[in-house]
Amino acid sequence: MSDLPVKIITVDGPAASGKTTIGRMLADKLGFMFFDTGVMYRAVALAAYQAGVNPTDEEAVSALAEKITIDVKPVGAGDDRTSIVLLDGDDVSWAIREPVVDATVSKVSGYARVRAAMVAQQRKVGLRGKVVMIGRDIGTVVLPEADKKIYLEATLEVRARRRFQDLDSRGGDQSLEEVQAGLAARDEADTGRDLSPLRPAKDAFVIDTSELTPEETIRKIEPLLAG
Ligand code: C5P
Repeated sequence: MSDLPVKIITVDGPAASGKTTIGRMLADKLGFMFFDTGVMYRAVALAAYQAGVNPTDEEAVSALAEKITIDVKPVGAGDDRTSIVLLDGDDVSWAIREPVVDATVSKVSGYARVRAAMVAQQRKVGLRGKVVMIGRDIGTVVLPEADKKIYLEATLEVRARRRFQDLDSRGGDQSLEEVQAGLAARDEADTGRDLSPLRPAKDAFVIDTSELTPEETIRKIEPLLAG
């Protein structure tokens, strides 16, 4: 697959739809960089929490987002993290997965100045090419000129089960019902917001992964990349 003419692949979709697994597999196959943009919004939510800033205080969160430095670095093989994330130099790769971040990230990601600060950095990385970038608005707003756009979806129940298993294996203490309620709330905030709401780009290839293994999903995507 590595001699295909594609340079930028976007993978959007709701939480736990398979973006990370599929995005990483594609990036590995193509020898492209994998970039999970969700970690940046998570880092902003964490920074607000650590600074004692109320996530509903748009002005204070925005000022913070413009001040902090977020570095995202690729992880090596066999590393469970999706990326190494540094917040003002501190490794927060695991801290950004805490429930407090899950509960506040969709609030802070709805603010215009927060999005502007993050999108500018994401575009810069994307335009270097040879990248698989995953998020909510990558095909619609961040890199509308991408060569190939994929949008993954799955039922809420399937996504909740996946996320629950993932958290459970890392010693999480949320019940399946709590995980599902958290995802539903985030879905509503991410699809309902005014700015860059979650939706497939017009030219996106939409795949429902509810009944598919990661390998089956990749097999559906492969012909698209060649075209
Ligand atoms: O992908 P992940 O679930 O880690 O993203 C966390 C949150 O960050 C999402 O629920 C969404 O509010 C926000 N996000 C976004 N735009 C992106 C990626 C993530 O608004 N491109």
